Amino acid sequence: MGWSIGYDSTWQRDIGYGVPATCDHHGCGARIDRGLSFVCGGEPYGGEHGCGLYFCDKHLFMHARRPQLCERCSNRKKPFTPTPDVYTWVHHKHTHPSWQEWRDEQEKVERALMGEDAEPMDELVEAQRAEAEAGEGVGTKKGEAIA
Ligand SMILES: [Zn+2]
Ligand SMILES: [Zn+2]
Repeated sequence: MGWSIGYDSTWQRDIGYGVPATCDHHGCGARIDRGLSFVCGGEPYGGEHGCGLYFCDKHLFMHARRPQLCERCSNRKKPFTPTPDVYTWVHHKHTHPSWQEWRDEQEKVERALMGEDAEPMDELVEAQRAEAEAGEGVGTKKGEAIA
């Protein structure tokens, strides 16, 4: 096994080829995963030149002296606003046994923040499911509104 799932503390999200995702290019909506072949900068977290966001092959550009980069980093501009995690991934985290420890942690944090009765993660999952069902390619705009 290689680098299937990790955590990017810069963008605060799960990364690795085990994580299904949407291209971070504004308005794209292509399905990718957060493996090394899709990362801006060619290494986890983006290395020296990249932003560390994840893009489909249409939105990663090759350079002579720099690694694969997104449009923004190719032009040395500010990175894109990341797209939200896809519903299938959020669902996986909330149901799969391998994420039990994470869920326990989340619950502790939520209870501390929201009080005993709150179940905000369920609402989040509901909202993402509705978004996923609303269709492909709409996630980026809504994601920016959330961020
Ligand atoms: Zn970039
Ligand atoms: Zn794309």
